[in-house]
Amino acid sequence: MVHIVGAGPGAVDLITVRGLKLLRQADILIYAGSLVNPELLQETKEGCQIYNSADMTLEEVMGVIEEGEGVAIVRLHTGDPCLYGAIREQMDEMDARGIPYEICPGVSSFCGAAAALEMEYTLPEIAQSVVITRIEGRTKVPERESIRSFAAHQSTMVIFLSAGMMERLSEELIAGGYREDTPAAIVYKATWPDEKILRCKVAELGAAAKQAGIRKTALIIVGNAVNQKGYLRSKLYSPDFETEFRKAQQ
Ligand code: SAH
Repeated sequence: MVHIVGAGPGAVDLITVRGLKLLRQADILIYAGSLVNPELLQETKEGCQIYNSADMTLEEVMGVIEEGEGVAIVRLHTGDPCLYGAIREQMDEMDARGIPYEICPGVSSFCGAAAALEMEYTLPEIAQSVVITRIEGRTKVPERESIRSFAAHQSTMVIFLSAGMMERLSEELIAGGYREDTPAAIVYKATWPDEKILRCKVAELGAAAKQAGIRKTALIIVGNAVNQKGYLRSKLYSPDFETEFRKAQQ
């Protein structure tokens, strides 16, 4: 059995209880070395074979998985594996070989960043949707999903894999419809000990990142929800609102 496990955003204790248990039982661990906190490797048992997938191809990863038939294998991905984890291609290869697998979710970095910012992405009357996306780089993004087209919605946007292209990102966000003074934040290494938070406006993203020397491992959060002001109180916790669980108060 291969367990595809989300390692969480960075802090070692943000892996799930289930994920940690699987990690401790693993005979073989293949971890995404570019972003998984190496301290997690200390949780493996004596004799566990450890591979860093950062310098491996899909074929090499599959080679290790095939050779490990019958033992407990953990494939450790950063954050939650469902976002930019390249897990589909691994699962297809395992399906083709009849290798069983299971996914254990993790805390994504977009949740880690919200916690770092003490932010609710979905504020009543301000934004009720979160767009998780990236700018096009060496990996193509379908035109209908361009930053510009999503910007037209003025929702909260959490932008992955784009820290090295901040100037262009800022231009695209503005061209798409965000005002230049829309609040924005850059969260570098959310939940890691060297986490950094920068707050600025959409037009200032490029300069802010440059000044702080941030080029990778960051999320960019934009939208009117970023300054956490001007929202309406929720209905759910309002005294005059009745729910299945609580009567309205007079
Ligand atoms: N599956 C991961 C994302 C992998 S893609 C998840 O759920 O978080 C890698 C990108 O994620 C990085 O380029 C960066 O944009 C973002 N990222 C991952 N960990 C991060 C962290 N701790 N802080 C900020 N951004 C992070």
